[in-house]
Amino acid sequence: MKKAIKGGEFIIRESRIDEIFIPEEFNEEQRMIAEMCQDFLDTEVIPKLDRLDNQEDGLMAKTLKKAGEMGLLGISIPEEYEGFGQDFTTSMLVADVLGAGYAFSVAYSADTGIGTLPIMYYGNEQQKQKYLPGLATGDLLGAYCLTEPGAGSDANSGKAKAVLNEAGTHYLLNGSKMWITNGGFADILTVFAKIDNDRALSVFIVERDFPGITFNPEEHKMGIKGSSTVQIFFNNCEVPVENLLGKQGIGFRIALNILNLGRIKLGANVIGAAKISINQSVQYANERKQFRSFISNFGAIKYKLAQQVIKTFANESAVYRISQNVEDAVKRYISEGSDKGKANVDAQREFVIEAALIKIFGSEVLDYIVDEGVQIHGGMGYSSETLIERGYRDSRINRIFEGTNEINRLVVADTLIKKGRKGEISIFEVAAQVTENIAYVKNKRHFTGDYYKDINKTVKNFKTVFLMLADAAVDKFNRRLSYEQEILFNFADIITEAYISESIYLRTEKLETIKKKKLDIYRDILNVYIFDSANIIYTKGLEAIYSFIEKEKQDKYINALRYYTSVKCENIKEARRRIADKLIEDNKYIF
Ligand SMILES: Cc1cc2nc3c(=O)[nH]c(=O)nc-3n(C[C@H](O)[C@H](O)[C@H](O)COP(=O)(O)OP(=O)(O)OC[C@H]3O[C@@H](n4cnc5c(N)ncnc54)[C@H](O)[C@@H]3O)c2cc1C
Repeated sequence: MKKAIKGGEFIIRESRIDEIFIPEEFNEEQRMIAEMCQDFLDTEVIPKLDRLDNQEDGLMAKTLKKAGEMGLLGISIPEEYEGFGQDFTTSMLVADVLGAGYAFSVAYSADTGIGTLPIMYYGNEQQKQKYLPGLATGDLLGAYCLTEPGAGSDANSGKAKAVLNEAGTHYLLNGSKMWITNGGFADILTVFAKIDNDRALSVFIVERDFPGITFNPEEHKMGIKGSSTVQIFFNNCEVPVENLLGKQGIGFRIALNILNLGRIKLGANVIGAAKISINQSVQYANERKQFRSFISNFGAIKYKLAQQVIKTFANESAVYRISQNVEDAVKRYISEGSDKGKANVDAQREFVIEAALIKIFGSEVLDYIVDEGVQIHGGMGYSSETLIERGYRDSRINRIFEGTNEINRLVVADTLIKKGRKGEISIFEVAAQVTENIAYVKNKRHFTGDYYKDINKTVKNFKTVFLMLADAAVDKFNRRLSYEQEILFNFADIITEAYISESIYLRTEKLETIKKKKLDIYRDILNVYIFDSANIIYTKGLEAIYSFIEKEKQDKYINALRYYTSVKCENIKEARRRIADKLIEDNKYIF
């Protein structure tokens, strides 16, 4: 039996279809939970979107509390703390469905994710007993206070400071935190600050009514207007010593681990948001007539609709693949003796590369979908009367929070290379072989005629592009490669495309295996994605080659790049049309 896949290992190892989870495999209970989430959105959120976005007094907090009454805030919280103790994949499904809730979705994610999980994973028994039941039921709502006016991406540089009082009973907390989601109403604030002159952050559980806290008025934002975002000031705020979370000085580690999870969840959120935006787009295209024809009949519109579907399917395939990887790793850590909380943290940390790449991919997919959604709506897309306009504005934040996409691109490429250097993944052993063979790569095509064998080889070739270029880059820059951000960005995009291509391929193959038949529409999706992906990888690879490979070696590398990105071309235009036609006929996303 093969060993379970490790984080980042996908770059040198093929996955099997039995190692991945696909959304078609959800069980009855999971489907019921998804339906409950959808009902909640339909009754409590969507009819109130304008009121929520106008920040009607207390409405967002009330809506979250209603979600709490229905058990939706306690999905991941263990049963002994009044939660439902559901597994990771189920919590991803909830994030996926509720992702269609516009600003509510952000408030929900902040509350149940970054606002709750630090206590759940790092709290001692007393802290968990005190806070988790309230957070599970909605009696308490949570927020996460890391960012400061001077410390955003460089979160560890924050100036908030905590000093023990003379009696040794309380920390006196001073400083300010910015952009705090749910800050306008949250009862429990997870606050990051440095104790005395520590260089490393610590974390404190701060209750809203502790003395010495003031809250600024709500920020005026581009989108997710219903979500509360405020600046918070701590002025000799008295925090009991027992509210230090975890140990002194481990705050940055906690912050990163919690953000990791947030990134994977963001990928899931995007699925729900993408699907409703697609539904709005196709329904409009099926109703709007120009030149005596429904605009959905035009090839230009079909192209956009098809791309929306393909990208959503791609994101979904990768999200649930990662979710299974995390789930498997949790089980593995538990079997090795970890408690459940630590196992979860370690598993999410292990998949830091996958978390970062899905955050980038998902947020950019949604931006594409809402942007083209607005375009499909024409002038109406620019009107605040349409939901797609709201979706367009709301989507943009995803590229900024949970680590900007720039920071996440650096995480993807840099971490993978570092794992290689440390020998955690034998990237450079494999890469050295690739480099050795580079001169012998002939531009002959590598296809056998066996559909999945050929796709498998193509995906492997995509990964080889990264290995070939990473080997050359490390050779040239050594540790200075960390400062070559443009090249690392090229690498991050190549790695991401390889991962996503492989995810759709595995899902399609697994689906066909389950259904025991060839599924043409999914092959269309896969073929178009692979085609687009090859072009992206080629462009990014070429950019990298011209950025650092010596002139006399460039031809050799470009020749290899051409070979590794050559794909078996079907009629891509017709494939897109078939995908669009299915969407147009169903009048909503059913894939
Ligand atoms: C609506 C909203 C809600 C938020 N909610 C929360 C919350 O609940 N809790 C919380 O703690 N924070 C929250 N944030 C803060 C958010 O996480 C930060 O805005 C984000 O991390 C970026 O920090 P910054 O805004 O200071 O941008 P900066 O860090 O100043 O970045 C500016 C630009 O420089 C780039 N950049 C920065 N460093 C590098 C680098 N090393 N290499 C390359 N490029 C770089 C960035 O990618 C970006 O493009 C929220 C923000 C918003 C807008």
